[in-house]
Amino acid sequence: MKKKLPLHTQIIIGLVLGLLLGLAVVQFRIGAGFIIDYVKPIGTIFINSLKMIAVPLVLASLIVGVSNLGDISKLSRIGGKTILTYMVTTVIAVSLGLIAVNIFNPGKSLPTETRDNLMTLYDDNVGDKTSQVEELREQSPLKPLVDMVPENVFGAAADNGSMLQVVFFAILVGIALLQVPKEKGSPVIAFFDGLNDIIIKIVGFIMLLAPYGVFALMASLIVEITGDNPDSAIELLLALLKYSLVVLGGLFFMILITYPLILKMFTKVKYLDFFKAIRPAQLLAFTTSSSSATLPVTMKQVEEELGVSEEVSSFVLPLGATINMDGTSLYQGVAAVFIAQALGLDLSLTQQLMIVLTATLASIGTAGVPGAGIIMLIIVLESISVPAAGIALILAPDRILDMFRTIVNVTGDAMVCTVVASTEGELPDGLIRKSNPLTTTEA
Ligand code: ASP
Repeated sequence: MKKKLPLHTQIIIGLVLGLLLGLAVVQFRIGAGFIIDYVKPIGTIFINSLKMIAVPLVLASLIVGVSNLGDISKLSRIGGKTILTYMVTTVIAVSLGLIAVNIFNPGKSLPTETRDNLMTLYDDNVGDKTSQVEELREQSPLKPLVDMVPENVFGAAADNGSMLQVVFFAILVGIALLQVPKEKGSPVIAFFDGLNDIIIKIVGFIMLLAPYGVFALMASLIVEITGDNPDSAIELLLALLKYSLVVLGGLFFMILITYPLILKMFTKVKYLDFFKAIRPAQLLAFTTSSSSATLPVTMKQVEEELGVSEEVSSFVLPLGATINMDGTSLYQGVAAVFIAQALGLDLSLTQQLMIVLTATLASIGTAGVPGAGIIMLIIVLESISVPAAGIALILAPDRILDMFRTIVNVTGDAMVCTVVASTEGELPDGLIRKSNPLTTTEA
């Protein structure tokens, strides 16, 4: 009997074939319409089906996650650990980005002519993005706190961009469930537990489509990025090559150095094993550029391949997909300084420290959807008095960098989840297993 290829291999094949098809269409300048009309929809169906389950999954898994913790003291212990580690990794990421951009100074070597061209080319686009943060800017500094509390929970649940509000509500329900009499709470917990399992099952169905979805997404992305004028698109990307390389270098540093070091410090899990286990989630993060859309797969991989208990993963991961964005914050640090450099503005140490603070907060507020990072970057720029219109300079390669920073966002969540599980006494020998001895009866 023929052996089936593992999922990640199938996804990689889809990715490479999609890339080749996209490049061929751009190169020979035929078939772009066909790709957009007939191939792209397959990718859209794939992403939509992942997004479709994001809200119910976050809701169900967090409610079950919190109520499974059993008591408020365990919740505060795991919650405190989780949030602290998320904060620390984010600050490390922004600082790394700042160090790299100050060493390589990519903004200083951008020719003035290229800078002016970019500014005119993307002027309108910037208008769009700035108006999206206009509202935010006019409000009090406590706006992020206010934003966490939904005025209508169904309204929040109707919008994948309001995940933080869904998280807030779910944690509240979980805490309340710990405090109502058992006979009242149990059926509710059982309901959400069942819902959780059903959604994970649906993830399995959707993943059958993954190789085709990824193929379609890649092919249409290439065609769309290069647009009608592939030569000028390539020229633009080359002009911003140094900036892009600094961002990419920082992101790879996170994945290859920072995360392995943290894992080594707190767990017995070998990084290679960890990497193998979360590969499908990383590939999906790359192609969908969305941590929220990737969340179901991240949960499945961390539970099934690493053996983290559902108790920990269903609390740590949905929270991480919403508030922990190491890749985004690193990118925001590099981008803010790059723009300042290109516009000839020198940033003081205080302004750079301000970036650490605002990029950390901005990444918490960034929704796990494509392109959200660049919108929040405007807030970072404003905090250091750099004109927001400067984002015109970095719009061209943003779509591609988004794919890479999302990989880091998702890897960071999975890493912190593994650390929290280990410090809770799970994964004692660091071996990858299909199920955790602590959560199965065979132990
Ligand atoms: N696309 C990223 C994510 O979903 C957010 C960003 O734009 O940086 O994690």
